[in-house]
Amino acid sequence: MEWLQSHPTLLIHKDKKEKILERVRNIISDGAENLYFISDYDATMTKRHLKETPETRLPTSYGVLENYSGLPEETKDFVRKNVQKYYPQEMDASLSEEEKFPIMVEWYTSSMNAILKTGMITVDRVKKAVQTSPAALRDNCDKVLKMSTANKIPYLIFSAGMGDIIDLTLKYKDPVCWSDENMIIVANLMDRSEEPVKKFLDPLIHSCNKENLFKHCEQLKSEDAQRVVNAAKLRKNMILMGDHKGDLKMKNGITAENILTIGFLNDHFENEEKYLQDFDIVLKDETTFDFQVKLLQKIIEKNDC
Ligand SMILES: [Mg+2]
Repeated sequence: MEWLQSHPTLLIHKDKKEKILERVRNIISDGAENLYFISDYDATMTKRHLKETPETRLPTSYGVLENYSGLPEETKDFVRKNVQKYYPQEMDASLSEEEKFPIMVEWYTSSMNAILKTGMITVDRVKKAVQTSPAALRDNCDKVLKMSTANKIPYLIFSAGMGDIIDLTLKYKDPVCWSDENMIIVANLMDRSEEPVKKFLDPLIHSCNKENLFKHCEQLKSEDAQRVVNAAKLRKNMILMGDHKGDLKMKNGITAENILTIGFLNDHFENEEKYLQDFDIVLKDETTFDFQVKLLQKIIEKNDC
């Protein structure tokens, strides 16, 4: 497993190393036909920042719309103030999950409603916001998505962010890398049945209920989506990717023989030890999906050397 351990940004807790490498070996030998992904989107599939400007955070999926130049100033202002007010509470380690729950709901709904209230939100405008935003997928994230499609590996995106931004980014912003064949998005979706858009569809996904993915999937309408979910349910190995401890909840309610969790430690490097305890593999200050490309290649070839 020299190829894995020599990846420059990769860290594994020394006490768990043997167990984790064993799990990686199992996943590789079981091959692509037994694998599926569950992946967070913001700061996991996308870059948190550019390598050369680490102090500047790139927009999240909400940020893409919040920063859209077409929105009235007062709406942008309202949404910005919400971030200043609620984000520290989301990150506040002294608050329990139960305490955070209503606060998070208040945040998401008030920002979303302010944006919809402008009566300006149409799919075309959201598409434009996506295409002009500096938000970007990690380098080679598109490659992993395309390799997954080519090898019929279900790739389930689970996000408390804005699903339409995710959807339109993957479908209309270079590098285009969406496929109905193997991908689904469970996130906060707008009701696109009327224009301008007036409401979001239930359920609201936020950082406190980001679990029981298959239960949320029951609400997905399309046959393609149900086919992808059913294919995933039958598989025994799952790779989970996130950038936040809360993302580990995505495996709650799921049984799989081998679960490998990969966590991106994008900033606050003083948390390294905690990340190492929580995630199996930690990618520290990594801006690409290069490790995932290597790992997936090994799984497709069933070759762990
Ligand atoms: Mg994230």
